[in-house]
Amino acid sequence: MSTPTQLVDSLGRIHTNLRVSVTDRCNIRCFYCMPLENVQFRPRAEILTFEEIERFVRIAAGLGVNKLRLTGGEPLVRADLDQLIRRLVAVPGITDVALTTNGVLLAEQARRLKEAGLHRLNISLDGLKEETFQRIARRTGLDRVLAGIEAAQQVGFEKIRLNAVAIRGITEDEIVPLGEFARQQNLELRFIEFMPLDADGNWQTDQVISGGQIRQRLEEAFAQLVPADRPDPSQPAMDFVFADGRGRIGFINPVSAPFCGTCNRLRITAEGQVRNCLFSTREWDARQLLRSEASDASIAEQLVACVQAKKPGHGIDSDEFVKPERAMYQIGG
Ligand code: SAM
Ligand code: SF4
Repeated sequence: MSTPTQLVDSLGRIHTNLRVSVTDRCNIRCFYCMPLENVQFRPRAEILTFEEIERFVRIAAGLGVNKLRLTGGEPLVRADLDQLIRRLVAVPGITDVALTTNGVLLAEQARRLKEAGLHRLNISLDGLKEETFQRIARRTGLDRVLAGIEAAQQVGFEKIRLNAVAIRGITEDEIVPLGEFARQQNLELRFIEFMPLDADGNWQTDQVISGGQIRQRLEEAFAQLVPADRPDPSQPAMDFVFADGRGRIGFINPVSAPFCGTCNRLRITAEGQVRNCLFSTREWDARQLLRSEASDASIAEQLVACVQAKKPGHGIDSDEFVKPERAMYQIGG
């Protein structure tokens, strides 16, 4: 059999996008992602080293992966993350390296990340009130996140994107102020629907404020939202621009409007388990191969098998839906 050069699943979806979790640790405790207490972090020896991550990425790049997103847990709690970024931007075939962060440690790291060659930055911000931050994160820190956003702008990151999860009963009155903030600061804002990946298993459909409901609220407050160009048809977000020319808003609606049909993403957890979907109930153990004498070809074969086994969709809305055992922080959002 000839060596595959692409990661194609049984539905013809070509996978070019890899999410790399660099840690399961975090400095805050968002209720939609982590438990509040007794968090079971992986022992450090189980977490992939920078060398292992780089090797895995090289192999994935050989199979057509060109975009990376570093995530976690909170990626900025991983020591010397800028050193990993330096390695990854240099991997042949990788054209885009992005990072998703809660922003708490960003003010002190923004310059280093920029100098390391990080291309893009997403910063999570669900509201502008400290009270909202604490209800969600169960820690203080909004001022540090806002300082992080400012620092990222100052060191020259362009197209910074804010990620907001909207939760009924908590963030309704944050939606319009967030929209205003993004318009003023020239930041792109993306709303992500709350997904059943909380560690406590308390997710309820009625806590989800759908992208459609948020869109309506923003249009009432500002101006009509007009669909934006869609240069990448596999992107999960539906993007809009305000008709008055000020601001860009995206909606990631996995619950109300799943986008699995064009999904091109795969993931590797901090301890080296490959997943073909956020909601996978099965994983492929790359760490075991990376730590044995396994050849690059056998790791590539494992990746091919993982992508081939991908299901058509996550099925959140079906009766057969099985919530993954792992919560968001253990997978890498
Ligand atoms: N710690 C970083 C952060 O918060 O940006 C990166 C990891 S976090 C898991 C990645 C993104 O997933 C964040 O924007 C977070 O708000 C989002 N997220 C976490 N749990 C979620 C859930 N149950 N439903 C929807 N989005 C979630
Ligand atoms: Fe930490 Fe991000 Fe999860 Fe919040 S969403 S607990 S910041 S990993």
